[in-house]
This record gives sequence, C-alpha cells and structure tokens, in this order.
Amino acid sequence: MARIVILGAGESGAGAAVLAQKKGFDTFVSDMSSIKENYKQQLNEKGIRWEEGRHTEELILNADEVIKSPGIPNDAPMILKVKEKGIPVISEIEFAGRYTHAKMICITGSNGKTTTTSLIYHIFKKAGFNVGLAGNIGQSLAYQVAEYDYDYYVIELSSFQLDNMYKFHANIAVLMNITPDHLDRYDFQMQNYVDAKFRIIQNQTDEDAFIFWNDDPIIQRELHKYGIHGHFYPFAAKKEAGLAAFVEENKVYFLEPSAFNMEQEDLALTGTHNLFNSMAAGISANIAGIRKECIREALSDFKGVEHRLEKVATVRGVEYINDSKATNVNSCWYALQSMKTKTVLILGGKDKGNDYNEIADLVREKCSGLIFMGLHNEKLHAFFDGFGLPVRDVQSMKDCVNAAYEMAQKGETVLLSPCCASFDLFKSYEDRGDQFKECVRNL
Ligand code: ADP
Repeated sequence: MARIVILGAGESGAGAAVLAQKKGFDTFVSDMSSIKENYKQQLNEKGIRWEEGRHTEELILNADEVIKSPGIPNDAPMILKVKEKGIPVISEIEFAGRYTHAKMICITGSNGKTTTTSLIYHIFKKAGFNVGLAGNIGQSLAYQVAEYDYDYYVIELSSFQLDNMYKFHANIAVLMNITPDHLDRYDFQMQNYVDAKFRIIQNQTDEDAFIFWNDDPIIQRELHKYGIHGHFYPFAAKKEAGLAAFVEENKVYFLEPSAFNMEQEDLALTGTHNLFNSMAAGISANIAGIRKECIREALSDFKGVEHRLEKVATVRGVEYINDSKATNVNSCWYALQSMKTKTVLILGGKDKGNDYNEIADLVREKCSGLIFMGLHNEKLHAFFDGFGLPVRDVQSMKDCVNAAYEMAQKGETVLLSPCCASFDLFKSYEDRGDQFKECVRNL
C-alpha cells in the first residue's frame, strides 16, 4: 500500500488526510505545532494516525509522497530532508485534483483573491450550479472531494499552494494582479513569486480560459514567457481592442463569449479594485454560460466579504470602514483611492518590508489625520511625519478608535487599512477587524 504523509494539520492538511485515507493510502499526519481539537477529532473519527509537536523522521521519510501544507516553507528542515530522499512533495490542491472531474475555476493574484472567489461562487450558486468553494476559504478542496460530489469548484489559490502544483489543471484561471508580497518566502526574488503566480495557467489547453487584468505591468511583461494555451480574456478599466470586459461612460461591458452590459453604479462592490474583481467574476460566469440577467443580478446583490472595505457604522456623521485585510501597501492604495471624503487612516502592525511611497500621494490628497497602531511605529513616523498631518500613536484598538473619534470631523471617514500584518497586537487580521468593529459599535 502506497504511503502518504501529510505535513501540517490545518484545514488543508486534515482534508488531504481524509481524502488519502478514503482512497486507500497508508496515511499519516505530522504537525510540528499542536493540532486544533476539531481537526484531531476529524482525524480520529476516520481512524487516521497523527502526531503533534514533532516530526518523527522514521514515520515521514518512508513516504511515497508528501503533501505539504501551504504554511510550511519549502526550505523547512523536514521538507529539505524529504526532498533529499527524492520523495515528491505536492500541495493539497494538487492531490485533490487527481480525484475529481469537476470543472475548476481558480483565482490567484496578490490582492483581490478572496473577494473575487466569493463573488464568483455567489454568481454560480445563484445560477443554480452544483458548486463548491475551496482553497484559502472555507473547507479544503480535498475534504470536499472526499465527501461531496460537486460539478464545479471555485478555488482561491495563494502562491504557496501554487508552489507545489504540477499536473493540476484549471479550466478557468483568473490572475488579478501581481505586486510584491511574501518575498521572504521567495528568496527575496520577485521573479520567483511571479513564476509561482503563473503556475495557475500551467497545463491549460486551448479549451480553457485565462482571465487577467490587462493593465498590470508585470502580467503584461511576463505573459508571453509561459507558453499559454488557454483562450485570453483580459479586462481593464478603459476600452481597448481585444478586451473581454471594460468600462465606457459608466457602463461595464462584457463582450466574450456573450455580449451584455450593466450600469457601473449597479455593482454591489465599490472602488476601482472591486470593479476589477466584478469584471473577473462576470467574465468567469459568462464563460460558464450563466445567463446575463443572472450575472447582472448577482453582481448587484453581493453582500461583500468581511474585513474588506466593510462598512461598520456611521457615528456622528463619520463613517467607519474596516479594511483589516489590507495587509500590504497595494491593497491600502486601492482602499484610499476609493475614499470619497477626507479620511483618518489607521496604519501599522507588523511591517513586511513595506515601501510607503506607493501611497504617499493619496495620503497627501485624502487624509486629514493618521493613526499609527503598532508596537514599532518608528518607520511610519520616519516616512509620514513630514506630511504635516496630525498623527497619533496607539497600542490597542480601544485607544485607536477613541483617537479616531476625536480626530475625524463630521462628513469624514475613518479607514482601518493598515498595510501591515496584525501579529504584533492581534491574533490575526480577523481579530483586528472584529475588535475594530466592536469598539466602533461601542462609541
Ligand atoms: P486577497 O484574498 O488576495 O488577500 P481580498 O479580496 O481579501 O484579497 O482583499 C484584500 C484587500 O486588498 C482588500 O481589503 C482591498 O483593500 C484590496 N483589494 C481587493 N481587491 C483588490 C484588487 N483587485 N486589486 C488591488 N487591491 C485589492
């Protein structure tokens, strides 16, 4: 019996184990940290063997194949040992892809993945498709392949998942954009990160579709390097020859495969970045043959995703917006760009080597004040202090929201779009966003 070892027992690892066991492999799960109770229970119920707090070499290096959770870096000591032994290392998505004939709609990019993935899923559900939502969101693909029988999957793929994908085949691949992120996991070489993102189109045939933002300079530069076979569906804000979707005179036009249009103001999600997300989702649905009335309606009634430009409340004429998921500078740029009033911007957290030049002009143009929320705000001070804006330093969400309340004038907006990871003061970006919402609601 072939042996599969799964390293890391989070959502993807536990799901991969369930599928491997079901397919008759000798299955073993090993996690260096402690495994969450619900996953332990899942493994125990299926009779799958596991260990936590260690990697026992004898139980791992006898594998025929190793499934690596996306959180484990490729140069982790155990992964290096596995590779040295010549044991293939794959991702959970690669593994799950072997056991389903469902059509795969895969979304990647530096920003906008979760929003676009959720929006595509919403349209497909509304159209009555038998569809699963997977990848970084909700249940793992492997678990769903083991337990359900969907005709379509809409899958959010991070570069880490793409790293260990080889034969997997996306019927519809969506590449939103490529800006520097996670470079610490790519030897600080942008090209390695770009190559990982482009793995989304590997193995595509001429029956498949490749949807991408046409104005992304990196995508444009790299597009022709990879021998792409899928049919191109580029989208952009302004009309140009060859686009599958664009905007003209406040109308969004979808041209391929079927032509239809809708008023831009009818889109549920606002801001330029969300226009791109809506176009990518609309094209995917169009390719799948969903009726234009249904696409229009679904793009209009989508409720949005938590922690992404989420409207929290208006207090004394000031609107509070939670964009806690903006963990890099580019996503904050898009958030600021969509602000319609003067804004008190909350920045800070764990800096991943940020270059704030990207948002400098927008901060000058749109901000009436800045709040730095982190244990180490020196870099923010060094960059922004010369802008002449009122600045406050805070180290808890309560102080942060109180400071925002004092600083923002009636008619202004308070925007939490921190450019940074949350791990210095919070458990996660969700925790940061939840605390923000709670403090705002208690004002
Ligand atoms: P991801 O899953 O790629 O992290 P999300 O959909 O969760 O992306 O959005 C994260 C943040 O990125 C949002 O808060 C928003 O500010 C910004 N954003 C969303 N879509 C885009 C886009 N298409 N281009 C650039 N920034 C975006």
